[in-house]
Amino acid sequence: MEILEKAPAKLNLSLDTPFRHQDGEPEWNMVMTAIDLADYVHIETLDNTSEIIVETDSGFLPDDQRNLAYQAAKTLQQDFNVKQGVRITITKKIPVSAGMGGGSSDAAAVLRGLNQLWQLNLSKEQLALLGLKIDSDVPFCVYSQTALVTGRGEKITPLKSLPALWFVIAKPKASVSTPSIIRQIDYNRIIHQDVDAVCQAILNGDIEKLTANMGNVLEPITSHKYPEILRIKNKMISFGAQAAQMSGSGPTVFGVCTKYSRAQHVYNALRGFCQEVYLVCPFSLH
Ligand code: ATP
Repeated sequence: MEILEKAPAKLNLSLDTPFRHQDGEPEWNMVMTAIDLADYVHIETLDNTSEIIVETDSGFLPDDQRNLAYQAAKTLQQDFNVKQGVRITITKKIPVSAGMGGGSSDAAAVLRGLNQLWQLNLSKEQLALLGLKIDSDVPFCVYSQTALVTGRGEKITPLKSLPALWFVIAKPKASVSTPSIIRQIDYNRIIHQDVDAVCQAILNGDIEKLTANMGNVLEPITSHKYPEILRIKNKMISFGAQAAQMSGSGPTVFGVCTKYSRAQHVYNALRGFCQEVYLVCPFSLH
């Protein structure tokens, strides 16, 4: 038996952390959305072996237990005592270590896919909780729809779909380690984001209010080390994006445009400046 799952990338429209838990992990308060830039995850069950095989078309991604897709299959296999093995073939389109949740989305795709193939009948809430063991972005990726994300990443409250808009995405060459950025958060100096205002703007389909209230508390930390992030952000705004900010722990920057012609203009301008640039719309489940 086999299944093909689309694994979309995510962007953080709003990213804040109210406090750090005793174990050092942040409590999150974020609005995330999925975009139409996706990996493809083909999953095939294997009889007569319990082996988990991961293959990717990327030369530098791990294909062993370090791959988050492998960890997703292993978690389900162990927790539900499944004897079958599985071959996971990942066609990589999402930039790696970019703040776009590519590995997490691959893991979530494996959770969704194996939930069907192994007829585990787990709810999205259950899959999200299992996903949290792998990475804090996996629970959101199980849903892959615009949502408020709180807790350690496991509390997902779906919001309305985004109004019609375009994202121009630029990934600078820098490769960022999320744990090292998280360690540098200074809770005494953080300027908190109005995450509620972003939720309200989405519920009302109000793009002006959305773009006026977007923000990411990790942006000053990552851009201190990689000033190129701010240069890209300023370029996006000067070429007409209504808002621009870093996603996740970076270094990817995205701009928001309501008009396609404007988005194309920003896209073309950025291409001369940055190697990896994309023009995408929000991901739609339908
Ligand atoms: P996060 O912010 O959750 O760390 P990210 O979007 O910045 O995510 P990813 O592309 O998910 O970064 O990759 C982060 C790390 O995970 C990389 O070091 C990569 O080697 C590892 N990784 C493991 N499995 C995968 C996978 N299937 N796809 C991409 N990266 C993976």
